[in-house]
Amino acid sequence: MKNVVLLGSTGSIGKSTIKVVQDLSDRLRIVGLAAGNNISLLLEQTKLLKPNAISIKEEQNAKKLREILGSSTRVYSSDEGLLQLATMPEADIVLIAIVGTSGLQPAIAALRSGKDIAVASKEILVMAGETVMEEARKQGRRVLAVDSEHSAIFQCLEGRPYNSIRKLWLTASGGPFRKTPAEKFADITLEEALKHPSWNMGKKITIDSATLFNKGLEMIEARWLFDVEIDRVAVVVHPQSVVHSLVEFIDGSILAQLSTPDMCLPIQYALTYPERIESRRVQTNLAKITSLSFEEPDESRFPALSIARKAAKIGGTMTAVLNAANEVAVDAFCQRKIRFIDIPQIVAETMESHKPILHPELKDILSADDWARQKAQSLAFH
Ligand code: NDP
Repeated sequence: MKNVVLLGSTGSIGKSTIKVVQDLSDRLRIVGLAAGNNISLLLEQTKLLKPNAISIKEEQNAKKLREILGSSTRVYSSDEGLLQLATMPEADIVLIAIVGTSGLQPAIAALRSGKDIAVASKEILVMAGETVMEEARKQGRRVLAVDSEHSAIFQCLEGRPYNSIRKLWLTASGGPFRKTPAEKFADITLEEALKHPSWNMGKKITIDSATLFNKGLEMIEARWLFDVEIDRVAVVVHPQSVVHSLVEFIDGSILAQLSTPDMCLPIQYALTYPERIESRRVQTNLAKITSLSFEEPDESRFPALSIARKAAKIGGTMTAVLNAANEVAVDAFCQRKIRFIDIPQIVAETMESHKPILHPELKDILSADDWARQKAQSLAFH
């Protein structure tokens, strides 16, 4: 039995993780759950899964939950609650699926207390890839990918030395604006940007998929997870979202991982690794899919890719700045304060004003994050 702590249980990844745990109830047990504001769903999940401890963002909600649950479950709140859960002695693995930056410190705390982590929250490796991977190496723990693209690469690479890689190919669906002409980009609405062609996800990642910043963040994530320089991480547009990513080896051979899109598959693989366990949830009929197509991304309409590559090349605190500025810009777009095309502009301008610290400590990363938020706010909400 593997004991799982799930941070971000009420979100899209969190709900899929619970399905996987229920499918594999003879192997996986939830011992901790954390949510942001959705008190009613957290309560429902707690009654269903009976974890030892839960955490919710606001202390006033924690009080309400304590009154309802009595002594059956320990209830924590705020960032301290996330740290308590991430370091629970009975946990074997901590799956982090919190949107935003709140997952970073729990990720490091979980590794330090000897647990493997399964990472959905891209922000963690984008902000602090070097620190997190170094901590995992020091502790001899695993950082397992939940993102479907990185899970695909991990599955293709398994057992092969990293020096056998020529290139990692991340697939991108291309988002809802794959075919939209450049001159129409200025008029893209929030409603249009929220319509993702193949995945049903949280709001932030859906907008990131429309700008392709999601793929930019994934390039940086891949660079750290698989320890390859950013020039060997490439993106190819694949609208069917069946090939989840590919590895090109030094002999020219390419391995890919395929399935119909369902996040339960990479979540299950991360939670059960190194085993592969039977699941009937994902069934892929290639004959029905009929064709798989690939095209080059258009970096003039989607500058997010070159901005992310630039941040990764500079390194240090620059990737945390990219992440924070993008979060602020997406928020401003969701509040209808800026246009879709202003998102990459704000990120690029924030990066230009930043003096990066190379090989930063956690405090440098957090203060760069803070600085970038203020800078991007001043650009987006002036
Ligand atoms: P959602 O917006 O659906 O869910 C976010 C989760 O984070 C919710 O459970 C939310 O709680 C919780 N949360 C937010 N702030 C806090 C906090 N301070 N403390 C505790 N919990 C908090 O996002 P997704 O599930 O789509 O994405 C989560 C992460 O996974 C993101 O980083 C995303 O990039 C990544 N990811 C998502 C994929 C997907 O298919 N959805 C694929 C690959 C990666 P509440 O709802 O209660 O407020």
